[in-house]
Amino acid sequence: KFSSAHRLGFGSANPTSKIPLGLKRKGLRIVVTGGAGFVGSHLVDRLIARGDSVIVVDNFFTGRKQNVMHHFGNPNFELIRHDVVEPLLLEVDQIYHLACPASPVHYKFNPVKTIKTNVVGTLNMLGLAKRVGARFLLTSTSEVYGDPLQHPQKETYWGNVNPIGVRSCYDEGKRTAETLTMDYHRGAGVEVRIARIFNTYGPRMCIDDGRVVSNFVAQALRKEPLTVYGDGKQTRSFQYVSDLVEGLMRLMEGEHIGPFNLGNPGEFTMLELAEVVQETIDPNAKIEFRPNTEDDPHKRKPDISRAKELLGWEPMVSLRKGLPLMVSDFRQRIFGDHKEGSN
Ligand code: NAD
Ligand code: UDP
Ligand code: UDP
Repeated sequence: KFSSAHRLGFGSANPTSKIPLGLKRKGLRIVVTGGAGFVGSHLVDRLIARGDSVIVVDNFFTGRKQNVMHHFGNPNFELIRHDVVEPLLLEVDQIYHLACPASPVHYKFNPVKTIKTNVVGTLNMLGLAKRVGARFLLTSTSEVYGDPLQHPQKETYWGNVNPIGVRSCYDEGKRTAETLTMDYHRGAGVEVRIARIFNTYGPRMCIDDGRVVSNFVAQALRKEPLTVYGDGKQTRSFQYVSDLVEGLMRLMEGEHIGPFNLGNPGEFTMLELAEVVQETIDPNAKIEFRPNTEDDPHKRKPDISRAKELLGWEPMVSLRKGLPLMVSDFRQRIFGDHKEGSN
């Protein structure tokens, strides 16, 4: 029934609570599902740097070995190709459960697989947490608020979600994952944490994943027009990946279950975002309007008072500071060793 990745002999489970970040202590054994993806790989870098042992579990649907290759050969790092929809036996102290495609283009590609990943995958990882007494952190999403009728969104808002739309496999999948997480906490005493992540960008995003920041940056670098969907007046709040990783680690190590909004409250229309991309990469980049996708939320901006108060966390990197860091990574990956514009 179980995958062959069975490990034994790691000592007692879950010595994690109440250890402040940055304090020297014995390394933990941590699973990061989806650890070969964009956010996961940055989280893995921080955990390894802190001295923990990390097992990445990933089926490489949207993740890439290149994102974690720099840890190959490190005895504190292990990579398992595994689909979380299948059961998995491991002995660990903490589980960061990120496995799930995040870009609308990817999660709509095979919607049934997306919902299975969110429901069965999360169930399996909660079953694992229950069996070994590990603390479990779910990366949920601002999409649980749907097309929100409250602005900005607080964690107490229950959302406005279409249950039968093209985004439902993701939105409703994550809502069910939150439900499962709370039921394992209440019913089986599993220590859980829930993060609701708002749009995040940075190095290692898939170049052609269809999300707006990666699209605009790649388009501007390739001298193609920036594709603005709809009238471009819809808003999003963009968080730099290092801020998110700091928030996830504080949440895991802290004493509060959540849910916590983790996002940057700076709110931009898509046209404003296009302007920032023009300023950063190419002032002559053209804008091209395209029809919008179905069920696109009109606005989104986190209220982060709860995370500020209870986790002592807030974002440090503004869009204008973070974007150039992503641009150099994209430039490198798009043009390789060649000079800009040579391919
Ligand atoms: P990503 O697509 O780069 O990473 C997801 C990773 O999960 C990939 O490595 C993929 O191969 C892996 N994966 C997918 N399905 C799997 C399965 N069935 N079994 C094993 N591995 C599987 O996306 P990301 O931006 O790094 O997102 C990470 C998490 O954060 C996701 O759960 C996502 O829903 C959540 N999130 C991200 C954002 C954002 O803006 N990046 C916003 C809200 C929530
Ligand atoms: N599970 C897993 N690894 C474990 C323990 C459980 O993948 O170490 C899976 C298990 O196969 C099941 C799910 O997690 O599908 C839920 O497990 P739980 O023990 O809560 O429920 P049950 O097995 O009783 O349905
Ligand atoms: N969008 C856009 N141009 C693109 C890609 C997306 O204008 O090339 C818009 C999209 O319609 C949405 C917003 O940007 O309003 C954010 O989309 P994304 O797919 O990045 O994330 P979402 O927040 O919808 O999950």
